[in-house]
Amino acid sequence: MSTLYNIQQVAVIGAGTMGRGIVISLARAGLAVQWLDNDPGATEAGLAMIAQTWAQQVAKGRIAQAEADACLARVHPVMAYDDLAAADLVIEAVYESLALKQAIFRTLDSTLKADAILASNTSALDIDAIAAVTRRPEQVLGLHFFSPAHVMRLLEVVRGARTSPAVLDAAQALGQRMGKEVVVAGNCPGFIGNRMLASYVAEARKLLLEGATPRQVDGALQAFGMAMGPFRMYDVVGLDLEWRARQLAGNGMDAPLVQVDNALCALGRFGQKSGQGYYRYTPGSREAGHDPEVDALVLKVAQDLGVRRRPIDDEEIRERCLLALVNEGAKILEETVAGCSTDIDRVYLHGYGFPHQAGGPMHWADQQGLSLLLARLERLQGLFGEHWRPAGLLMRLVAEGKRLADVRGGRA
Ligand code: NAD
Repeated sequence: MSTLYNIQQVAVIGAGTMGRGIVISLARAGLAVQWLDNDPGATEAGLAMIAQTWAQQVAKGRIAQAEADACLARVHPVMAYDDLAAADLVIEAVYESLALKQAIFRTLDSTLKADAILASNTSALDIDAIAAVTRRPEQVLGLHFFSPAHVMRLLEVVRGARTSPAVLDAAQALGQRMGKEVVVAGNCPGFIGNRMLASYVAEARKLLLEGATPRQVDGALQAFGMAMGPFRMYDVVGLDLEWRARQLAGNGMDAPLVQVDNALCALGRFGQKSGQGYYRYTPGSREAGHDPEVDALVLKVAQDLGVRRRPIDDEEIRERCLLALVNEGAKILEETVAGCSTDIDRVYLHGYGFPHQAGGPMHWADQQGLSLLLARLERLQGLFGEHWRPAGLLMRLVAEGKRLADVRGGRA
């Protein structure tokens, strides 16, 4: 890998959920970290949280007191962008708003040294639109950490259209130094992981309206081996994140598939953090308890939308959710958003709780046999419509007797 960039001094903008985890991971990897938030209270609370995290690790015997002290000493809160002039790399983790991120990148571009790398932790925004406001688009990229960033191993390094190979190499080396499972992804809505998740979750939400319950959908996928079903996952992540994003974007609120989520959020049921979401939680416990009120709410939403419910078995749930994941994964491979099927598998194993024994969604698909899988997709297309059209790559691989694992750079 190139050593053109020697990253020693890093800055993090934003001291919220993600900023905190990122700062912990950087300091733990031995990097000096400057930390800036426009709300000084947020940086103060962030410092207290990271100090507490290390104190807990000392108490559990995971690290020595001297190491905790050294980590904390590497973190320096700053008040102004001028203080960041010597940073080698900046990771921005402020609210998910393109206008806000562009304003920050303009400021960073005009205050940081010429060879500094500028990264955004955005989950969904267009990296090229952020890079475009700077005079150094080849030094801009996405560093998509997962929550909590000091616990989750996955890091998607998002390549913009103009990101230089040396900058990509430097970012990958930094991720490895932080102990992350690094996967390079192309720039598209949701990158690799969240783009595939959107297809999977859309199917889960349809199944809910068509006749299943949250408990049944989660149970069927957990029986397959997923660490968590999609509705339990939403309770952990917080239903309000997407709900607020829909409100801020001013579109998507009317989509039939999000009406159950909207109704839960309108009741203040944001998930684990509010004690209620798709499930009910007793204080101090993370155990997801069944809530018949949610089943009744699902029934009512389906009725209001005019959906005729029918009995749905667990096999149909697994078939539709897993094949949605695989078909989107094949499109991602075809479009070279992922370089190879193993990269997609690593994203799902390390960031989304896909069962290790199944090897990841693409490996699982190869094991099933692509011709069988193609026939299953065509059957779903006949039953439910065009969104099930199989990826062109799958059709080509079946015709040529090849596997997803044979694909490199979009071709087998
Ligand atoms: P958050 O709301 O917890 O924190 C955002 C922080 O940004 C706040 O402390 C706020 O004071 C600060 N901020 C706002 N405007 C600022 C400005 N002009 N200058 C400096 N600081 C400013 O948000 P979060 O959950 O940490 O998310 C941050 C980013 O990470 C978003 O882009 C989000 O999409 C992405 N992300 C979030 C998750 C997640 O699960 N929370 C996962 C992956 C990526």
